Amino acid sequence: MLPFTIEPTTNPTPADARDAALVDPGFGKLFTDHMVVVRYDEDKGGWYEAKVTARAPIPMDPASSVLHYAQEIFEGMKAYKLSDGSTALFRPDANARRFNESATRMAMPHVPHDLFVESVEQLVRIDSQWFPKVEGGALYLRPFMFASEVFLGVRPAKQYLFITIASPVGAYFKGGIAPVTIWVSQHYTRAAPGGTGAAKCGGNYAASLVAQAEATAQGCDQVVFLDAAEHKWVEELGGMNLFFVFDDGSIITPPLTGTILPGITRSSIIDLARAQGLTVSEQPYSIDQWQADAQSGKLRETFACGTAAVVTPVGTVKSPQGSFTIGGNQSGPVTASLRSALVSIQRGDAADPHGWVHRIA
Ligand SMILES: *Cc1c(COP(=O)(O)O)cnc(C)c1O
Repeated sequence: MLPFTIEPTTNPTPADARDAALVDPGFGKLFTDHMVVVRYDEDKGGWYEAKVTARAPIPMDPASSVLHYAQEIFEGMKAYKLSDGSTALFRPDANARRFNESATRMAMPHVPHDLFVESVEQLVRIDSQWFPKVEGGALYLRPFMFASEVFLGVRPAKQYLFITIASPVGAYFKGGIAPVTIWVSQHYTRAAPGGTGAAKCGGNYAASLVAQAEATAQGCDQVVFLDAAEHKWVEELGGMNLFFVFDDGSIITPPLTGTILPGITRSSIIDLARAQGLTVSEQPYSIDQWQADAQSGKLRETFACGTAAVVTPVGTVKSPQGSFTIGGNQSGPVTASLRSALVSIQRGDAADPHGWVHRIA
């Protein structure tokens, strides 16, 4: 692996200012003192310089190709302080693998797994004083890669930057784990067959923002997207996967057909639900069936999941045709139990039979 050069900041945030900010970090607005930067150049034989350095603006030429053709991918993961005082990542190997799957789709170079994980670990180590002091808090890590080549021709770039930054975070939704209200997008889709829906690329988010803004204007917390071909099948939220819980103990989540982001939380929840004796099937579920099952009571719970918000109950679904509620707009027992099972493993409070918790020495 490339050796890392470590250049600690000469201008660290004063401890009292940092600790004051960590009392109420919010989400994604507070950042640590450092970042990790690794450079790639095809003409230099690939990855060639890995540095832990002061967090600072990145000088950029206006012709940098990411600014024009959006070759950009990212990951989202959290480091946790465990009850025994140690620090751990949750399934970083899965993030490394998914990052390279996104890279393949966007015609970008792969980041070697050990380089990816080491970058994240280096940042957590140097910014170890930045863990929030609040319940549910964590250090959110954002590894990302973009095309830095100065070139306006249309082809995959030859130069990239792989950067990791860190943001102390509290709970994602302001209402804590109260059920959220979601808006069914009528005009917009997130991903089409053959498109980039399964890649974690910034472009998917750019395309989802107008739909999210519409949801907000409708008084909803999040938008839910239907499939692009038939506008019938429920896919996912802007940044979270969905699960449906039925009165017979079965659970449905939409299948990974290429238009849905393969969430690591999604995959973990499937394993945890099966371990609890629940039947999980990855199968299409239509918006009409969702409404009918919610109204008949066959559908007991719906929840969304992802690294940022963990597991969040969905209480109300709104569309121009009207709205319906699920389980009396209350958080249900299966949602609570799966959330608790996941969080207990992440925090080191429960056995970890799958080896998901990756301690940082
Ligand atoms: C990141 C993301 C998710 C959740 O993935 P996790 O690995 O569970 O955090 C779900 N949907 C979209 C569109 C995403 O970008």
